[in-house]
Amino acid sequence: MAERVKALIFDWAGTTIDYGCFAPIKGFIDGFKSIGIDISNEMARKPMGLLKLDHTRAIAAMLSEPISEDQILKAYETFEETLFANIEQHCDIKDHVIETVAALREQGIKIGSTTGYTSAMMAPVLKKVAEAGYSPDFWVSADQVAKGRPHPYMIWNNLMQFGISDPREAVKAGDTTVDIAEGKNADCWTVGIIMGSSVLGLTREEVAAMPEAELEERKEAARAAYYKAGADYIIDDMDELLDVVADIDRKLAQSAARKLLTPGPLTTRSSVKHAMLTDHCTWDDEYKAITTSVIDDITHISADDDYSTVLLQGSGTYAVEAMIGSLCRKDEAILFLVNGEYGKRMLSIADKLDRNYRSLSFEMTRAIDVELVEEKLRKYGAEIDAVAFVHCETTTGIMNPLEELARLAKSYGKKVFVDAMSSFAAYDIDMPGLDIDALAASSNKCLEGLPGLSFVIAKKVLLDEASGNSSSHSLDLFDQYKSFSDGSGKFRFTSPTNVLLALRQAIDDYKTEGGISARRKRYMENHSILVRGLEHLGIRPIIEPEYQSYIITTFELGNLDFSKLYETLKAKGFIIYPGKLTSMPTFRLGSIGNVYPEDMIELVDAIEVFTGSKQ
Ligand SMILES: *Cc1c(COP(=O)(O)O)cnc(C)c1O
Repeated sequence: MAERVKALIFDWAGTTIDYGCFAPIKGFIDGFKSIGIDISNEMARKPMGLLKLDHTRAIAAMLSEPISEDQILKAYETFEETLFANIEQHCDIKDHVIETVAALREQGIKIGSTTGYTSAMMAPVLKKVAEAGYSPDFWVSADQVAKGRPHPYMIWNNLMQFGISDPREAVKAGDTTVDIAEGKNADCWTVGIIMGSSVLGLTREEVAAMPEAELEERKEAARAAYYKAGADYIIDDMDELLDVVADIDRKLAQSAARKLLTPGPLTTRSSVKHAMLTDHCTWDDEYKAITTSVIDDITHISADDDYSTVLLQGSGTYAVEAMIGSLCRKDEAILFLVNGEYGKRMLSIADKLDRNYRSLSFEMTRAIDVELVEEKLRKYGAEIDAVAFVHCETTTGIMNPLEELARLAKSYGKKVFVDAMSSFAAYDIDMPGLDIDALAASSNKCLEGLPGLSFVIAKKVLLDEASGNSSSHSLDLFDQYKSFSDGSGKFRFTSPTNVLLALRQAIDDYKTEGGISARRKRYMENHSILVRGLEHLGIRPIIEPEYQSYIITTFELGNLDFSKLYETLKAKGFIIYPGKLTSMPTFRLGSIGNVYPEDMIELVDAIEVFTGSKQ
């Protein structure tokens, strides 16, 4: 993981020396004149940045009539003669270069360089420029590597020289679009410099004489060219470079590796993040096929072909709301079993949707009591059509007795809706075996995907007859289901394409790891390391082990200060979660996501140091 900027790799002519990059221009004009062809200044300049022989070929390719290889070599020979005769007059050091380089070195940053000049051309330049006070720590010319720009090899040579293995710790600064391309291909940060650049193509005198509006227009054109080439930063002059470095350092610090010990979003694998790099169109057949494969794979984690998965744009709550709002008729009533914030959230949803419901609440630290539920069903069963509850109450980390509750509700002939947000893909949930009607979950919990997608797995018969139930347009599961089934995988409205691709990858990774059993094993190990480790420090879970999930654990905070604990652990790369209990101060630690027993051991150590039990 990149820490901070460790090298600045400059181009030569037009960037650090030779204002406007004029040394090669006359050479190319003379070169082509020697074979009887007149070329314009613009033509001579267009391929600037390439190795000069490649540059000659690039000009030849622009001619209306093709010329022979012999003619190209002849033009190049004349180019070299003119260049060597002139090069020492074009070794002026550009504005702010000397001070900026000194300031960068003060920060411990190495100064590297790459060039389109050959090593023979560089010899007089290096000598002359060193005399004037500029010598980078390293230089390499395109004729010393397999291929010149826009290939990345010269930059990689610099990085090898400096012992830098992560190209995100290096910045390429140049004055042509080919410089930017070279930096992009090397995966470095890239900076385009406008004033005195080849892209601007003006001498100091021309700049001074130019009306301001015209100069602005030229600069805008230069900016547009750099932007199109993919430049990360575009600056007027070298004196802005230190701010650029500071900004990159800030970005690198912000994206430093961290482990999220939370109930989601979670730490994700780099494969999942990388899957987001492709832009996809939503009605494209290939994309729809990916969507269908995600739907099928999710369905088969907990159900069979009598069920289907309806994906929804939005976080988990959107799926819970769609399930509650779409899978009962308006005259049907739901019994909500509540022992935490997510249970309460279902009540708020039912209130807002103006649904018929009853509720039964339990203490947050106790699992839902099956006997009390039975009593309620015995008394009011006739008025109730469905039972809804949370499987793993993420508020505390408690597990509710899914199987008993489902069997009980079924014995009374009720539909069963489960919020399995934080348990899906980590606990076995046998939907067909338990005859569960619908389950809501999301991409960013135990599937270890990214936030932005949620889903409801429901019986197809229930979905098929759900027309007209929902009083919401966007959260209507029936309409969404029809779009997927009739449109062969088409989302009803704009789909979060990149998040879906990440979910596709996350499911592949889930299978690669070994599915539920492997994930359960890892999470259980993570959880038990946390519980055992913190027990030593006198920090105990608040839920009885019998009902405690291996997803997330609530610990007594005691007299520890949560914000201090949070900041201390964050500085070590761990993000923890506040507690949600009102009765006592607590904090929560998740065991899910791309985290492993070694991470848990490190976390316990860090907490031990914080509490003062360990130096
Ligand atoms: C995460 C979670 C949700 C959904 O919360 P969002 O913030 O909408 O993603 C719902 N129920 C439970 C039990 C959860 O853990």
